[in-house]
Order: sequence, then C-alpha cells, then structure tokens
Amino acid sequence: MQLVSGKNDLVKLNPTPLTITSDDESILAFVKAANPAPLLAAVAQITGDLSLLRTELRPDSSNMLDPTGGLTPITVAEIQSVAASALAKFRDGGCERAPLPNAAELAIIMEYLAGGEIEADYVPLLTEELALNKDQRAPKWTKGDVAPDAAFKVVIIGAGMSGIVAAHRLQQAGIDFQILEKNGEVGGTWWENQYPGCRVDIPNHFYSYSFAQTSEWPNYFSPQKVLHDYFRSCANEFGLQNKIELNTEVLSADWDEADQLWQLLVRGADGTEQRLSCNALVSAVGQLNRPKMPNIAGVENFARESFHSARWDHSTDLTGKRVAVIGTGASAAQFIPPVADAAGTLTVFQRTPPWVLPVETYQAEIPADLRWVLQHVPEYARWDRLYIFWRTHEGLLPMAVVDPDWEPQERSVSALNDFVRMFFSAVYAASVPDPELLAKVLPQYPPIAKRIVFDNGIYLQTLQREDVELCVESIAEITKRGIRTVDGMEREFDVIIYGTGFEASKFLSPMKLHGVGGVDLHERWGGDARAHLGIVVPEFPNLFLMYGPNTNIVINGSIIYFSECETNYILESIKMLLSRGLRSMECNADTHDAYNERIDAGNKKMAWGASTVNSWYKNDLGRVAQNWPFSLLEYWQQTRVPDPGEYTLR
Ligand code: NAP
Repeated sequence: MQLVSGKNDLVKLNPTPLTITSDDESILAFVKAANPAPLLAAVAQITGDLSLLRTELRPDSSNMLDPTGGLTPITVAEIQSVAASALAKFRDGGCERAPLPNAAELAIIMEYLAGGEIEADYVPLLTEELALNKDQRAPKWTKGDVAPDAAFKVVIIGAGMSGIVAAHRLQQAGIDFQILEKNGEVGGTWWENQYPGCRVDIPNHFYSYSFAQTSEWPNYFSPQKVLHDYFRSCANEFGLQNKIELNTEVLSADWDEADQLWQLLVRGADGTEQRLSCNALVSAVGQLNRPKMPNIAGVENFARESFHSARWDHSTDLTGKRVAVIGTGASAAQFIPPVADAAGTLTVFQRTPPWVLPVETYQAEIPADLRWVLQHVPEYARWDRLYIFWRTHEGLLPMAVVDPDWEPQERSVSALNDFVRMFFSAVYAASVPDPELLAKVLPQYPPIAKRIVFDNGIYLQTLQREDVELCVESIAEITKRGIRTVDGMEREFDVIIYGTGFEASKFLSPMKLHGVGGVDLHERWGGDARAHLGIVVPEFPNLFLMYGPNTNIVINGSIIYFSECETNYILESIKMLLSRGLRSMECNADTHDAYNERIDAGNKKMAWGASTVNSWYKNDLGRVAQNWPFSLLEYWQQTRVPDPGEYTLR
C-alpha cells in the first residue's frame, strides 16, 4: 500500500476568518480590490443587514461579458463605501456574524447578485453551491442506516479531481472503497500536465469543490502546481491517503453475472498483475488523459528531441534552440509564450486559430488588499463563486445558442453570438496591427464553437515577436530534421513540441471492459461513446462513469460542478441498491437512447454542434460526444436521484 506523497503545506481548506482590526480608511482601501457585487452580498450576509442591497446597487443582468457586472464607476464607489462602513460597524460590534440567512433572506441576496429575479428552481441549487458554513452535498445517510450487514465494495479508477470527490463521499457514507491510480501521484490532469504556463481557465473560487473552499489562492487562476497542491491537500484532509494505490493501473474489468460483481485485472507498481473484485466500479479517468499525437506522416522519423505537452520533457533545455510547436489549442496558447522566451527561434504551426478572450487578471497574483478581504470576509469567496456561476455558465450559455434564422452561419450563429464575435474581433484588431498576421490569427468560425482561450494578451503579443514565426501552411510531413509543409518548404528544428491535445473521444481507453454476456464496451460504442447522464451504460451494470460522454462544458462552467453532481447520483444509486437489497442496476436501453437523442438535438442547437469547425468535442463520426448542451441547473436536477423505472434491478 502506498501513501499520497508530499506535504499538505500550501492550500488550507475552510480557514477560520481573521478578526477585523483595521481602521475605516484602510477597510475602504481593501474593499476596493474586491468585485463589488459579491462584496456587498457577502457583507450583507455576515452583518445580516439586507437593506444594504439597494436596487440601484444591483449589477446589470443583461451585461454578462463585463466581469464587474456593468456597474458604473459611481455605483461601484457607492458599493465600496457602503460595504466599508458596514464592515467598520461589524468590527466595532466585535465581528459577531449574523445568524445564517434563512431561505427567504438567501433568495434576496441571490437576486441582488443576479441583478434580477431568479427562478425558484435555482434557489436550492445555488444554496448548495454556496455551502455557507456547511457541506451541503454530504450524503445524508450512511451504510449503517440502510444496510448495516451488506457486504459492498466500490473500486474507483483514478485519483484525480473526480476520483477524490467520489472517494470522499463514499467515505462519508461508510461504504468500503479503494482507489486505483495509474500515476505515482494524485491529481490526474493537474499532475500530468506540467508544461510551462499551465494554469486553469476558470477562476479558482469556482474551480474548487463547493465544500472545500479556501481564501488562500495565490492567483485568480491557479497555476498547475497550486491546483495539484489543492487536490493533494484535499486527498490528505479527507483522509484518503490509505485508500489510494498509486502506480496501479486497471487493465480490464469483466462483469461476472453469476456473482454480480466486477472482476478487475490490475497491474501494480512492481509490474505484477493481480485480480480484484468489487460490487460497483467508478471510472474517474477523465476525458483529457491520453495524449494525442497528430496523424501526420513521419512523426516517428524526427531524429532530434520531441515530446507532447502533457508529457513535457523538462530535461530538454530549449535555450537558444530552434523549436517548433504544432497546435494552437488551450495548452499550446499557454506554453508558447514561455517557450518563445527560452528558444532561439520558435515556429508555431497553426491549423485553426483559437478565439482568445482577454482577461486582464489571468496571469496575475491576488493583491494584498484582496487577500485581506478574503481573509477577513471569507464569505466573499463563496459569493464570488456564486456570482461566477451565475454570470458565466448560466449567463453566457445563450451566446452559444443557434438562431436558425440567423444568416450566414459560418462565422456566427445568432445576433448575440455575432456581438461576441465583434467584441473579440475588436480586441484582435487592437492587439495585432499587422494586417497579414491579423488575417492569420482572426478565427473565421463562431465564438464558442471551440474552447475559448483565456489570456492577458501575451499570446497574441508572442506571435508578433521577431523570433517567432506563425506558419499556417498545412504540414505535409515530419522529416528526420524538421517539418515540411505542403508548399514544399522544409524547416529544420532542434525540438518539436506537440500541443495536439488528447484522445478525448476514446473514453476509458485503453482499459478493456466487458459487460453482460461479455459484450465489449469499446466495440459497443464503436468509436461513438454514449451514456445515460454521462454516467451509466446499458449492459454494464453497476458501472458508473465520471466526466463521461456529454458531460463537458464549453463556456466557463466548472467540471468540478459536474463531478459533484455525478458523485451525488452514484451515491444515491448505491443507496438504492443497498436499501432495496439489490445486487445490481442496469440502465435500460430505451432510457439511454432517448436521453442521447435529446442530447444530440441539444448539441446541434449550440455553436459547437452547428459549426463545421474541427474540435475535440466531436468524435471521428462527427458527433459531439463530449459536451453537455443544457443548463447547469438541468444537470443538477437530473442527477438528484436515480429513477428505478429507468433500470433493470437485480
Ligand atoms: P486541443 O484543444 O485539442 O488542441 C490541439 C491543437 O492541435 C489544435 O490547435 C489542433 O488544431 C492541433 N492539431 C491537432 N492535430 C493536428 C494536426 N494533425 N496538424 C496540425 N495541427 C493539429 O488540445 P489542448 O490544447 O491540449 O486542449 C484540450 C482541452 O484541455 C482544452 O480545450 C481545455 O478543455 C483543456 N485545457 C484547459 C486548460 C486550461 O484550463 N487553461 C489548458 C489546457 C487545456 P485544430 O484546432 O485544427 O484541431
């Protein structure tokens, strides 16, 4: 048995708030660093004074692109002054927090933050997300309550973000489980991707578990190492160390009909293979975990150094070298600037330019003033989380919806989407004065049809460096010495870096899974992976997928949210099995098929499904097998509890 290595020294979860001792003037200076609307929401909540949330201080619900909520400078100044005065009074009263708001009071604060009325259906979801003083999603039952004598074991494959939350919940419910992790560390994608510049593109208050918040993020958007530390801290804090077998890869899983168990073949750290069995199997292997090498002729011929971004070779010194980068997706856009700094020359091979969204704070550290707010008003982070949730995914989703009457559809899919396109295009025009380069980097497909890249401007600046060339000629071949493009030109390189993405459509590969009657999962899928709710698959009883087919989101939702929803569904499924004395549950094919028809129809109405631009969201058959096309609310509603009518129960 191996333990999670490393110290839990960086990310402190749910820290105790500090007492406010600063003078009035300093408090006003500190709060100026905070986002105004979440600040006022947090201050109203901790003081219990909801009269602070005056209608004229509400953010503009129609201005979702503006991170400060379309507030005028005068309104912002008024919010800061109101918040600072209320915090000074709070200080004078000994920092005594008001009792937690009741449902009606919560709804008032939420509506202030949203800038208008919120559908009643959202309130319980937002309350859970907010998780004020309480882990709202912890299971409300234990195995001891429902089936104390039943033997039931779960194996989780993968100790990344999804595996950790699933394990934590199983532990809370008192279910026996074990995590098998192929890597020598926890953290999944945040361990594997160690390329320079790697960082998350969702603000950290949202890209973190709802129940494990911290005021100690050093950046607005954490770099890889900080996130890896966060997930490692979580694994340690949740007491999972002894439950994780590192360097242990699941090779195959076969459903044993006689015993209603999964039989696993596992290769351990020393290379020996062993068999394990479990009642339920949770795959938490992710979608972006197997590097994809491009199908370019001669990849194997290059005689010098080359590597994929997710397998960065830190022993390769790029200093002064002639470096080629193939790909301009989210990974490459992050490592191209630091590679350009190190290399002698850099040539970037672009097939499709990314839409880049300028985010001023993307690479910035959290300033001391904002840190003061986070430490003294920790609810600020929670309300900021809710604000991001509301304004980004639920708020931005309409920008991706196709208007069937909108023409032409090639470059935008609706008037709103076209507005986004014009906004982005203006940024490109201002950032890239050279018309020839601008023509190369300005995307000709609708915004949100591919993953948008977040950046503080450095990516487009890098492409304008004298020692950087952007090549848009298609690659014909990789040769022994370099790369030959279709125009016949061969460029020589010392190092080739592949930023060519992941085998995202090959869900669960290379594991072999056999279900009822020995049916092979990959053969059944035929390269077109589907699942009901992205979680369960007919003929594969008691198999639960996390971040499975059609559970990815394109604009700013957090995958952690989906993992928390999936975990809830898995726990409720296990509860159903245990409380009814059942051995297995198998999703019915008609439920699965009807669900997938609806998903397909939904994706066709979104920019990423309607556009012909290539992306990792589509599999080789052209179907969007990755993305969830509906609201976050709907996924939450659908994953509350399993419907026994959708299953064959044994
Ligand atoms: P990706 O988005 O799939 O990008 C792969 C790049 O390689 C694309 O530019 C693609 O061109 C190019 N490419 C692939 N095959 C090629 C070929 N044969 N010839 C020329 N170019 C080729 O992969 P990624 O950049 O690793 O990102 C994957 C996903 O990971 C992201 O969308 C995001 O969800 C996640 N991610 C997130 C972050 C973050 O949080 N900041 C960072 C990195 C990754 P085409 O566009 O023409 O296909």
